[in-house]
Amino acid sequence: MRINVHAGHNADGRTACGAIGFIRESTEARRVKDAVAWMLRQQGHTVYDCTVDDAAGVSANLREIVAKCNARDVDLDISVHFNSGVGDLAGNGKTTGTEVYVYSPSSEARPHAEKVCQAIAGLGFRNRGVKYSKGLYVLKNTKAPAML
Ligand SMILES: [Zn+2]
Repeated sequence: MRINVHAGHNADGRTACGAIGFIRESTEARRVKDAVAWMLRQQGHTVYDCTVDDAAGVSANLREIVAKCNARDVDLDISVHFNSGVGDLAGNGKTTGTEVYVYSPSSEARPHAEKVCQAIAGLGFRNRGVKYSKGLYVLKNTKAPAML
């Protein structure tokens, strides 16, 4: 397959970076993105990195990511994020889990999204499952089936 992968948001330390709490989303999402790209290439897939580190703001970051994604003819777009979660600063020993968004139940990304949820849940995270959103910019505007 031909696959676009990107980490969400600008890089840490820039405007429009990701959530900051227990972890810094932009930094950790870039680590996961690099690992995912490496693993997919090991399996023989062609991978393009569509991460944008230094856009002028939130909207520009999303527009530039989607422009990079849509410049390639691919089978799948993968957007890596970490949610800010429950705001449980004391720590309750539980994870809030993993979830993957796709545009709709008929998205061709859905079977891949289900596999990602199952694989991450296999590491001990609660499986929150595949969710649907027609409002998320990347899911709405990428040409290829996308998951976030
Ligand atoms: Zn995010």
